[in-house]
Amino acid sequence: MHSKTDSVQSSAEALRYPFEDHPGPDQVVEVMPGVLWARLKLPFRLNHVNIYLLADGDGWTMIDSGFGNEESIAAWTTLFEGPLKGMTIKRLIVTHSHPDHVGLAGWIVERFGCALYMSQVEYLQSVFHQNRGTAERLTAQRLFFRRHGMDEDLTDKLLGRGQDYLKRVSVLPASYCRLTHGDEVVIGTRRFKVITGGGHALDQVMLYCAADKLFLSADQVLSKISPNVSVWAVEPEQNSLGEYLASLASLTTTLPYDALVLPGHGVPFYGLKTRIKQLADHHEERCRLIAEACREIEKTSKELVPVVFHKHALDAHQMGFAAGELIAHVNYMLVEGRLTSEAIDGVLRFRTT
Ligand SMILES: [Zn+2]
Repeated sequence: MHSKTDSVQSSAEALRYPFEDHPGPDQVVEVMPGVLWARLKLPFRLNHVNIYLLADGDGWTMIDSGFGNEESIAAWTTLFEGPLKGMTIKRLIVTHSHPDHVGLAGWIVERFGCALYMSQVEYLQSVFHQNRGTAERLTAQRLFFRRHGMDEDLTDKLLGRGQDYLKRVSVLPASYCRLTHGDEVVIGTRRFKVITGGGHALDQVMLYCAADKLFLSADQVLSKISPNVSVWAVEPEQNSLGEYLASLASLTTTLPYDALVLPGHGVPFYGLKTRIKQLADHHEERCRLIAEACREIEKTSKELVPVVFHKHALDAHQMGFAAGELIAHVNYMLVEGRLTSEAIDGVLRFRTT
């Protein structure tokens, strides 16, 4: 046979993207019978978020809701008057507390009178996000960035970014139903196992249907980009990268290599184990760069940002994520004994052991 076919067959774990086109703004794509994929635009660089709809008896279960702004409401309205006309949403499952996923939960729940399902930690984290911006919390964030070598000017920009990014979350439903790791959820004819994992969020919900080898990975495993793994002021010593890598390791040992993965951003794909290896390698490469940079001379997180994120100038939004990610790597390397830290004039400096 032709060599191209041979190479695909001989590499069963290779990454493959079975859908050539993503759904347009007024379309949904049928991934398999009873599984629909929609895509909503986002007003920042991430560009879009995926929403999945699972047939659930005489209605549907929706996975994630979209960003809480007028544009997303307009996009949903177009879909509910077009390809999703007459559809009843019976349940909304929100995978995690980030605003592109939980943002319209209140709007969807109110429109359909449906129940909201989340993990307990992610629901409470959404409450926490909604109440951010108090003077005490801004002061804590300021001290946290200061401790990592960021000056006043940069800190002002970063705090401005955080407010912009998170304040758009619409009013969160006042009650929810809890999903817990290991739960089994029956959605229509399918049984899904609830898997939760940390790192990108605190306790992000993923769903796996063994009969169809269908894995809704949320933002834990994305097709093309590496999910943000950060540390924030609320838990300055969190080992979020350690949690993330542990979750990836667990997914790679418990799920089959040939599952169809439906991620929160990007496109559906096959090749879960290959993708997990790429993501783990990507973080290890960053750790290697940090270790190299701190071998001869102690460095602050601020000084390490350009070592790891050297490709282009970062705007305040990207800088906020870059700083949070950098600190996640540093904290992980401290736990692993690869770095030591010393506070000089209240600023942390790191050195390779
Ligand atoms: Zn996301």
